[in-house]
Amino acid sequence: MLQQTQVATVLDYWRRWMQRFPDVQSLALASEHEVFEVWQGLGYYSRARNIRKAAKQIVERFQGRVPDNHHDLLSLPGIGPYTAGAVSSIAFGLPEPLLDGNVTRVLCRLLALESDVKRSSSQKELWRHARLLVESAACGPQSDNPCGDLNQALMELGATVCSPQKPKCLICPIQNHCTACREADPEKFPVSQKAPPPTPLEFHTYVLFNEKDVLMRQAPQDSRWNQGLWEFPFREHSSAENNDTQVEPFWRASDPFQFESLHEIQWRSIGKVRHSITRYKLTFHVYFGEAHKTERASVPGFNEETIKFQSTKSLKGASRSRANPSETNTYKESNPKTENQPAWIPWDEIEKLPMSSAQRKIARLALDELKRTSQI
Ligand code: SF4
Repeated sequence: MLQQTQVATVLDYWRRWMQRFPDVQSLALASEHEVFEVWQGLGYYSRARNIRKAAKQIVERFQGRVPDNHHDLLSLPGIGPYTAGAVSSIAFGLPEPLLDGNVTRVLCRLLALESDVKRSSSQKELWRHARLLVESAACGPQSDNPCGDLNQALMELGATVCSPQKPKCLICPIQNHCTACREADPEKFPVSQKAPPPTPLEFHTYVLFNEKDVLMRQAPQDSRWNQGLWEFPFREHSSAENNDTQVEPFWRASDPFQFESLHEIQWRSIGKVRHSITRYKLTFHVYFGEAHKTERASVPGFNEETIKFQSTKSLKGASRSRANPSETNTYKESNPKTENQPAWIPWDEIEKLPMSSAQRKIARLALDELKRTSQI
């Protein structure tokens, strides 16, 4: 959870997570949907997928115990050199280094590293020094866990004393060893070339409302956006196109949403949603339309069986067509056979769907529109 996310943001999620998945076995048995439910809002959903996959492997390959060596830790999904170093040293006391943003800054200043910190030669150099430090800690005066303590001390020093701006060199315990401080210009480090500006991308997004339902689909696992998460139908839109005139032609041409009897839908623009993710700046032009009840079945490929029936959440839209109404329904876990199939989802169920932050913003915008027009 702490990869790319601050502790203050993570705390509530972590507490809920530990209540729902108190041990590795419960996580290994959970469906992807159940994991997403607890993760929802934290973003970077690949972390949630990976931790579930890692839990399964820990149960299957390591008899339910987190491996206590660096090599096996690195073999688990979602665990890279940083996490493997942190778990090896802090949990198991092994002399394994770690580098996060804070430690990188401390070491760059300690060494006054002049080369671009993103270059692989710089990274190699930093890892080499991090290893030297942790190995010398292992040979130094004994404490309960000298290697874990050293790594945590470096991270904490970077977080609290050796800050990006105005580092507190006067109270720094390693001031006497610090080359950047001696050269009186610590803020110059780490040296880094400016990242290129984010690439702008634009999308047309379609919210099709029908009584109390809205049309959505589950993105395939291998799609570029929203892998395995629920989304409103959209397409990428070239900036050369004019937003207003392109709405209906796209809707007609778009596969798999070619609605023979829905061509008369009056789409109206209800606003834009902006969202930044890694190196992209996304703008969603959101269009809102209404379909009549009789047109529900005219969605090609739409099959109410695509919404079903594995755990305990009720789903009104699906239960309408079930032969056995006593059966408890929910959204199916990501499944290649049903992914990308349109499905009518009741508005009051949308909060329970795993969605990206951008799709959730679009849902809120559409919900405001429904409230404004007194339809819910
Ligand atoms: S002396 Fe200053 S620049 Fe050097 S590690 Fe300490 S806080 Fe950072």
